[in-house]
Amino acid sequence: MPTVNIIGGGLAGSECAYQLARQGINVQLYEMRPEIQTPVHKTPYLAELVCSNSLKSTSIDNASGVLKEEMRILDSLILRVADDTRVPAGTALAVDRERFASRVTEMIEREDYIHLIRREITSIDDGIWVIATGPLTSSSLSKKIKQMTGEEHLYFFDAVSPIIYTDSIDMNRVVKANRYQEDGGDYLNCFMNEEEYTRFWQELINAECLPMKMFEKGLLFERCKPIEEIARTGKDAIRFGPLRPTGLVDSGTNKMPYAAVQLRTENKEKTMYNMVGFQTRLKWGEQKRVFRFIPGLENASFVRYGVMHRNTFINSPECLDIFLRLKKNPNVWFAGQITGVEGYVESAAMGLYVALNLIKTIKGEEPQSLPDDTMMGSLVRYITTPNVSFQPIYANFGILPTIPVKNKWKRRHFLAARAIENIKAWKEKIFLKK
Ligand SMILES: Cc1cc2nc3c(=O)[nH]c(=O)nc-3n(C[C@H](O)[C@H](O)[C@H](O)COP(=O)(O)OP(=O)(O)OC[C@H]3O[C@@H](n4cnc5c(N)ncnc54)[C@H](O)[C@@H]3O)c2cc1C
Repeated sequence: MPTVNIIGGGLAGSECAYQLARQGINVQLYEMRPEIQTPVHKTPYLAELVCSNSLKSTSIDNASGVLKEEMRILDSLILRVADDTRVPAGTALAVDRERFASRVTEMIEREDYIHLIRREITSIDDGIWVIATGPLTSSSLSKKIKQMTGEEHLYFFDAVSPIIYTDSIDMNRVVKANRYQEDGGDYLNCFMNEEEYTRFWQELINAECLPMKMFEKGLLFERCKPIEEIARTGKDAIRFGPLRPTGLVDSGTNKMPYAAVQLRTENKEKTMYNMVGFQTRLKWGEQKRVFRFIPGLENASFVRYGVMHRNTFINSPECLDIFLRLKKNPNVWFAGQITGVEGYVESAAMGLYVALNLIKTIKGEEPQSLPDDTMMGSLVRYITTPNVSFQPIYANFGILPTIPVKNKWKRRHFLAARAIENIKAWKEKIFLKK
């Protein structure tokens, strides 16, 4: 059997290595720490949690809870260790970070089939490779990845506008229209009069922002400015920027509105809309509070909040196939946050998915894609479906194929139950053939 080379002993790399080893497949797991540290890792442990010690909710009313349940069904190492090292935090799965990472490290070191090598990898040869080097991939390897994917397909920066669930938008207050009366009405427009605009602007410039990390300073603002920064340069600045009303007509007054926030659909099913030009470093609670001053968004429910931070990820829709292999070279697989998912659990989930299909291919069987109506499957579909403004995504109900049930909780229960049933069926399917 061939050896699999995994670069990066984080959440995704550790999960992937463990799954392969359990099936008797030799793994060389390369981790550059502690020799070379990233700007945020502090220990030599594998699977170190760099920030929060929470892996988010365990409730299946929550998308992250559904994802975790699916991963438990597929015997995820990361989930098992997280459950074993859990600390009290209500319905959140929070862990003792030291025990969590040291336990994952022990379990990996104990595996006969895993050879853990503490070294930075800067280039790759002809074997089978899994690149799981995360949001802070070392710069030498980044250069190599650029060569493999093409210069324009590796990003170092995440500048994401908030995304809102469609069913939380007040459709009576928004206007479907494109600028300059172009056909289609693709955008939802939230018109503001002067009073509404002034109130919103004041709240925006006074809202609390996230502190900037030293290592992010050089990169931030290179590409685009956060909306609150633009707003602080003058009262009309955003009215001439992302909130410009040009080309739009308020049918009530038959005039151009004073300002307009545009929402653009995020997916084919139109279950989610993003706020155009709203890249922000506002704290999440502040985003919810301030953006609800926008007419039509008074009850907005956020699929994800806006962020701007350093993040290495590839243009997966262009570069990867549905199994997360490079289209140009199927011996190179990608896993974890570098694929364009975001979050500890999502990253580990991609390591798990890659491992299960690597096992199939190494055994000479066909790899199997996940059903779209599972949370893992939806994430994979999202990051591998063509998208002109591809940005990282975390687990959320908006990416699952939906059903016409109005009540949000009933709908979520159905979607969660369907996802769990389907992951069980998929597990049967992928493990049936020996
Ligand atoms: C500052 C920051 C805070 C975050 N906070 C959270 C949070 O609170 N909650 C959350 O859910 N997510 C958070 N994330 C996002 C993300 O979930 C984590 O970064 C997660 O650890 C990603 O998992 P991963 O396995 O893809 O990468 P990582 O866990 O980062 O693992 C990648 C590993 O690859 C190693 N490596 C890199 N380059 C090389 C190389 N060339 N050779 C060998 N080894 C290499 C690194 O040392 C690292 O150990 C945060 C990200 C950042 C950057």
